[in-house]
Amino acid sequence: MHEMSLTESVIGIIEDEARRQNFLRVRAVVLEIGALACAEPEAMRFCFDVVSRGTPAEGARLDIVRVAGAGWCFDCEREVALAERFAPCPDCGRSRVRMTGGDEMRVLEMEVE
Ligand SMILES: [Zn+2]
Repeated sequence: MHEMSLTESVIGIIEDEARRQNFLRVRAVVLEIGALACAEPEAMRFCFDVVSRGTPAEGARLDIVRVAGAGWCFDCEREVALAERFAPCPDCGRSRVRMTGGDEMRVLEMEVE
């Protein structure tokens, strides 16, 4: 499952931070996931529960912020909204669109104790 490896990298980031900042437990994590990152929030939640066991993130609340996809259309010469990774331009219908945003995933905030 794709979400499982994404979640593992998130837990890895949290464990690194825990070592660096010397905290023992994370109460909440705010995760930013792009709409084109191929990560289902529900699957992320499930994986987070499983992968966080025995780590400082165990039992933490997971808040997911979705970011819309965006691309650059070479025919319209402007930024357009992208619903899917390889979707055509919503304005001109052509496929000369390069994805410019919406496939990222990062930890925005952590509430620690
Ligand atoms: Zn276009």
